Amino acid sequence: MRTVVISGASSGIGQATAERFTRAGDRVVNLDVKPPEDPTAAAGTWRHVDVADWAQVRSAVEDVHQETGRLDVVIANAGISVRHGVLELREADARRIVDVNLLGVLGLWQCAARVMTAQGHGTLLATASVNGSRGYPRYADYNATKAGIRALAQTFAMELSPRVRAVCVSPGAVLTPMQQAEYTDEMFAATNAQIPAGRHAAPAEIAAAFFYLASEEARFITGQELVIDGGETAGATTSA
Ligand code: NAD
Repeated sequence: MRTVVISGASSGIGQATAERFTRAGDRVVNLDVKPPEDPTAAAGTWRHVDVADWAQVRSAVEDVHQETGRLDVVIANAGISVRHGVLELREADARRIVDVNLLGVLGLWQCAARVMTAQGHGTLLATASVNGSRGYPRYADYNATKAGIRALAQTFAMELSPRVRAVCVSPGAVLTPMQQAEYTDEMFAATNAQIPAGRHAAPAEIAAAFFYLASEEARFITGQELVIDGGETAGATTSA
C-alpha cells in the first residue's frame, strides 16, 4: 500500500485525485486548510495544514512518514486565485498567491524530497496550469506562480534523478468550486467556446493523469509538464 500525500484535497481536483488513489488501495493523506467539502467522499485522512507555512508542512510530512514508514507520492495541488487587473492588484493578495501557489509547492516538495531521496524512490507531482504558458488577463500573479511550478519540476528532476521524479500537470478549464466561484454564465459559455473539446474538464480527468504519472508505467517521465486542456492551447481558434 503506497503512502500518498495530496495538498488541497478537500475540494475539486484534489478531492477527485484523493478518491482515485484511495479507490486503488493507496493510503491518502489530505493537507488542507478546510475540512473535506464532501465528508462522505473516500478521499483519505484530513490534516489541517496551510501549505504556505513550511513548519506546518514539515511536521505533517514527517508525521505521515513516521506513521506509515514510507512516502511514495506527493501531489502539491493546493492553489488559490484572485481575479484582478495588473493596475489594481493589491500587494497582500499577490504575496498570498505566491506563498500558497508557488512557495507552497516548493516547501512541500522539499520536505518530501528529503524523505524520498533517503528511501531511494518517490514521485513529486503538482498542479500547475495552462495559465503558466500564456498571458491570461487578470491573473498576472497566478499565471506567474504556475509558470514557476514548471521550473520547479525541471529543477527538482535535474537535481534528484533518478531516485525522485518531478512532474507537473497543467489543466485548462476544469469544473470545480474554484472555477464556479469566479464565473458568470456568460464567462462559462465564452470559455467553452474557446476549447476545441467544447467543454470544461471533469476533476476526475485530471485525477486520472496524476494516477498514471505516479505509476510504474510513467517511470521514464520526469522534469516535464503534462497539459490537459481539451486542445485549448494547441492552436488558434480561427484561421482568419
Ligand atoms: P478548489 O478551490 O476546488 O480546491 C483547492 C483546495 O485547496 C481547497 O480545498 C482549498 O481549501 C485548498 N487550499 C487553498 N489554500 C490552501 C492552503 N494555503 N493550504 C492548504 N490548502 C489550501 O480548486 P481546484 O480548481 O480544485 O484547484 C486545485 C488546483 O488546480 C489549484 O492549484 C488550481 O490553481 C489548479 N487549477 C485549477 C483549474 C480549474 O479550472 N479549476 C485549472 C488549472 C489549474
